[in-house]
Amino acid sequence: MKQPSYILVVNRTTVRRPVFVLGAPHSGVPEIARALARAPGFHVGAGSSGVLNAVHAVARRPSLAQERVSGTASLLREAYAEAWQLTPLTCPRCPGPYARVPANASAEPCEHSADARRYGDASPDLLFCANALHTAFPDALFVQVIRDGRDVVAGMLDDERALAWLRPGLLSAEHEFPNDFFGLEDESDLEAFRNGSEAAKCAMRWRGAVRMHARLRQAIGEDQLMTMRYEDVRGGEMATARRLREFTGARVSATELMDARAWAVGRWRDRLSRDEYGDVNEVAAVELSRLGYL
Ligand SMILES: [Zn+2]
Repeated sequence: MKQPSYILVVNRTTVRRPVFVLGAPHSGVPEIARALARAPGFHVGAGSSGVLNAVHAVARRPSLAQERVSGTASLLREAYAEAWQLTPLTCPRCPGPYARVPANASAEPCEHSADARRYGDASPDLLFCANALHTAFPDALFVQVIRDGRDVVAGMLDDERALAWLRPGLLSAEHEFPNDFFGLEDESDLEAFRNGSEAAKCAMRWRGAVRMHARLRQAIGEDQLMTMRYEDVRGGEMATARRLREFTGARVSATELMDARAWAVGRWRDRLSRDEYGDVNEVAAVELSRLGYL
């Protein structure tokens, strides 16, 4: 494992081996993050605005990370230095942003900040800037979760935030290929994306995520990258928790993975219409089959 070439101190603790949880939308990333966050001394963030801005800047224009390597790395580290700061307004164990906090205490470390020993993040779309994260944090650990694309599309179709990325206006500024964020391999995919149904576009985004997962497996060694399947968690909570413990060093409890609402398999059967299923199949059959879902 590479030695960290950066020094980042948050809440008076030096950040070491931060853990980033990666996956397509609706692939169990928040559930894994929650289990990690319940481990003692582990602070896992998600969705802070500074981080999201940096993530989406890199995810939508992958060349940013290649052209301005050091600039992008420090942008990400600065975003995390702020996001991981535990104050009475940001700490999940403090009463929260709507509580009355004296102005002079709101920016100060809260009483829980001294307990944070390890850090992680599970912001949406983190997957698409994982290479830049690896540059910014060379000792980082990555947990990537892969789920059946048909269930992912079923989840995205009911999620307005996921659908918002499919609006044609957001795409018009993109001319970079491949673009895993939108699932565009080359220019010919642009037309397909513009004219495709929502299900087809969601499937393209899942396909882009799967390709990104595969690229990461080539770029990052097994000691820093753990790949798991969404479908293996239910019924395999003990084994999953053990793998997470061994990989991250966090005391992850299997109980935290036993959420009856999560880890459902085959939801697409009730959710996707025949046309939607056809569109997903047309876009992603190769990847679905390669992963053993077809
Ligand atoms: Zn606190």
